[in-house]
Amino acid sequence: MDDTREQPEAHVDGLIAAGRFFSQQGWMPATTGDLSLRLDAGPMAITRAHSRKGELTPEDLMQVDLEGNVLSPGKQPSAGSFLHIILYRRSDHIGAVLHTHSANAIALSRRHGGDFLELQGYDLLAEVEGANPHGGALALPVYRRTPEIPRLAAQVDEDLHGHPGIPGFLVEGHGFYTWGRDLASARRHVEIFEFLFECELKMRGPLP
Ligand SMILES: [Zn+2]
Repeated sequence: MDDTREQPEAHVDGLIAAGRFFSQQGWMPATTGDLSLRLDAGPMAITRAHSRKGELTPEDLMQVDLEGNVLSPGKQPSAGSFLHIILYRRSDHIGAVLHTHSANAIALSRRHGGDFLELQGYDLLAEVEGANPHGGALALPVYRRTPEIPRLAAQVDEDLHGHPGIPGFLVEGHGFYTWGRDLASARRHVEIFEFLFECELKMRGPLP
């Protein structure tokens, strides 16, 4: 028996902790969302389909390579895992991708479907890595909801190719994706944007 197998790996602990924290904030209700990071060897570690993100165990994590091959026998990734793959393929600087389903993100996504969510006038935007907030402004794409994940992934890929500084995006009526050079960076982005989403809704008030 290999004793080291009993030692939880750092990436396992990190993803479990992120899931617990996001769930406690109400950002990943029930089994929604996906959390992943890029492993040194190349594939990604990602939460398996239908796992409860606030109660993750090592068994809820699996490995998938960037061709979409499942490397953890008997486990199934969610359909949205393809978006994670596209992001890792697009940039070597992306080390973790986090997908959440907060009420604030979804409310804003429904107001701006097919457009952009413009964020401006927040000092906090300076904390977003890799983005270039021109004049303190930043625009997150809000994609239309579609059951065709490959089509959505192709659009994301094209947009990131043209605008590599995009730090995240929303999917109308669905949720939010952001990323970072590592898990800590991506997690910080979730916290920053969730805070800004709340500010936006407070400033704008209820729908007319
Ligand atoms: Zn989702």
